[in-house]
Amino acid sequence: MSILIDNIGELVTNDEGAGLLGLRRDVAVVVEGDRIAWIGPSAQAPASDQRIDAGGGAVLPGFVDSHAHLVFAGDRAAEFGARMAGEPYTGGGIRTTVAATRAASDDDLRRNAGRLVAEARRQGTTTIEIKSGYGLNVEDEARSLRIARELSDETTFLGAHVVPAGSDPGEYVDLVRGSMLAACAPYAKWVDVFCDRGAFDEEQTRAILTAGKQRGLGLRVHANQLTEGPGVRLAVELGAASADHCTHLSSADVDALAGSATVATLLPGAEFSTRSPYPDARRLIDTGVTVALATDCNPGSSYTSSMPFCIALAVRDMRMTPAEAVHAATAGGAKTLRRDDIGRLRPGARADLTVLDAPSHLHLAYRPGVPLIRQVLHNGIPSNYPAAAPDTTKGLLS
Ligand SMILES: [Zn+2]
Repeated sequence: MSILIDNIGELVTNDEGAGLLGLRRDVAVVVEGDRIAWIGPSAQAPASDQRIDAGGGAVLPGFVDSHAHLVFAGDRAAEFGARMAGEPYTGGGIRTTVAATRAASDDDLRRNAGRLVAEARRQGTTTIEIKSGYGLNVEDEARSLRIARELSDETTFLGAHVVPAGSDPGEYVDLVRGSMLAACAPYAKWVDVFCDRGAFDEEQTRAILTAGKQRGLGLRVHANQLTEGPGVRLAVELGAASADHCTHLSSADVDALAGSATVATLLPGAEFSTRSPYPDARRLIDTGVTVALATDCNPGSSYTSSMPFCIALAVRDMRMTPAEAVHAATAGGAKTLRRDDIGRLRPGARADLTVLDAPSHLHLAYRPGVPLIRQVLHNGIPSNYPAAAPDTTKGLLS
């Protein structure tokens, strides 16, 4: 089965073409099976089994959301309300979600995570990383990852999210890097540690990441969200694929990232939802650091699954250009997952792409909050969403 996509207003390739985004115009795309088979001048497009008319809309690689916490039960809307009324975010509310998650059935967790994946897909996300971290015991961390693995290949063991209530920190670290890691590793590609004030310190973080690495897991770190600390430095030293948050950085942290293969993943939904200062994206980019954008979707500090929303925040409040933000949300996310088959559109790449109801990528930040995703192809399979245009012949406004 082949699909021709034509009448494209602007193709974002992140590959060959103009500027950072590799923009191309007057081109068509042919998808065969789950791969991009051809990109070239519209007039020379080969015959295909099926045609998608992009209607003059921009076509982008599907968004790669490289940081999300989707396996949980309940929500924390009341905590959000209290925070907006002036109470500070401390991370302590994670324990509320842990209690709800432990009490939930497998099916409830599966349904909730599946709902969030579908919600993200409607907003153009075709790859989503899913962390555990609301079980915090061997059994509940392992079942969280089993459920995550049903929904994504990009799964991350985050037993080291916080020390659960009533546990001794030293004993808990030993559990995480011992029997919990052993039970979780079969379902995980990555291991992650929340290295920050009130979570895990340098020595504990190093011990857990090193144990994960010995099991063959790739490394990610929740680093420098709440304070300057050792997280970013450790991420670079241990060869982590990503240091996530990067809100409070020293000059040495920025320089270390710039000279490394560790991507700085910025999560502006967290600063938005905790009313905190945003990371200094300009300083990172201008120093040569590779930057990714992700949602941090979780019920406490960032309950959004919307990459377009994060792009808008990055442009408006973190002073990224629209092109930098779109690149960070696609190719940047792919780099944090060490993937070269997603995040860009070229022959041989996975056929994960998004068609906008707008002529260029600029509209993602220019028209915040507007549902601009006309269609998403994931693994070459199109999902049709109803176009917004009403049938005016029926006199809808009369
Ligand atoms: Zn997170």
